[in-house]
Amino acid sequence: MDYLTEINEASSLDALDRLRVELLGKKSRIATSFAALRDLPPEERQVKAAELNTEKEALTQAIERKKAELQEGELQTAIAKEAIDVTLFEAREENGSLHPISRAMEEIIEYFLQMNFELRTGPLIEDEFHNFEALNLPKYHPAREMQDTFYMNDGMLLRTHTSPVQIHTMLGAKPPFKMIAPGAVFRRDYDLTHTPMFHQVEGLVVAEGKQISFANLKHIIIDFLTHFFGNFPVRFRPSYFPFTEPSAEVDVGCIFCGGAGCRMCKNTGWLEVLGCGMVDPNVFKAVGYENVSGYAFGMGVERLATLKYRVGDLRSLYEGDLDLLEQFQ
Ligand SMILES: [Zn+2]
Repeated sequence: MDYLTEINEASSLDALDRLRVELLGKKSRIATSFAALRDLPPEERQVKAAELNTEKEALTQAIERKKAELQEGELQTAIAKEAIDVTLFEAREENGSLHPISRAMEEIIEYFLQMNFELRTGPLIEDEFHNFEALNLPKYHPAREMQDTFYMNDGMLLRTHTSPVQIHTMLGAKPPFKMIAPGAVFRRDYDLTHTPMFHQVEGLVVAEGKQISFANLKHIIIDFLTHFFGNFPVRFRPSYFPFTEPSAEVDVGCIFCGGAGCRMCKNTGWLEVLGCGMVDPNVFKAVGYENVSGYAFGMGVERLATLKYRVGDLRSLYEGDLDLLEQFQ
């Protein structure tokens, strides 16, 4: 019964299978012995047959046992090979944080979504109609000078404000609706308080007839600013924007000095934070709206963020300075 030892020492499933053919196959000793049985006298044949059967049974069982053992071994090897060694190197993970601009943006968006405003987006590359003309800024209008525009070769431009999203929305929807449009805008400007790319959140509310008044606008702006900055006074100053009439600039009482006067508020006690007004009838006319009323507002996210997080130089927010950004965790 050497064969049993040989079976037990088979190193692989292939080797075991070769052994099985050799021991039990058609040309094996056992097979030929079975064939030779017919030449034996009956009583001898019976004894020999029983012996052969016992031997065959023993070999078959040994092979099956070894096969199961080898299969299990191969499985374990495969598992070990695919396993990840979690002790291999120290996986240091530090918590990241939202960039202050994203954080301010999210806070603004969240407020207006809670007030049932819809979120709208539009393309960064615009034509003159959406960016200027439909917003009551015809060619040669002096206010176009106020916005140093990046023009592209084909007459398209990088949007200078999020207001074109108002136009896209009004051309595709019927009032009443309340929307905000957050996003990046571009102007040729670079100093302490300006970067060539910055972010705005635009808001627009339109309803039929004379349902929307300046009082509605005042209410939402004061509520938003109180939510964003805390309990500071808010004032509306008459101003001019081409796309609203009447228009107002909105100030909050200086969050740095409490109104006493400081460098941040240029000793006025007030910080300018956004612009707003009732939608100019010419804007409604450009999108084919009749007999509606509405208000619009726009705010610079960088402006609000630098005030809220007290960042002196806006440009520092875009320098990827981790020492600065880590403070916002
Ligand atoms: Zn101040």
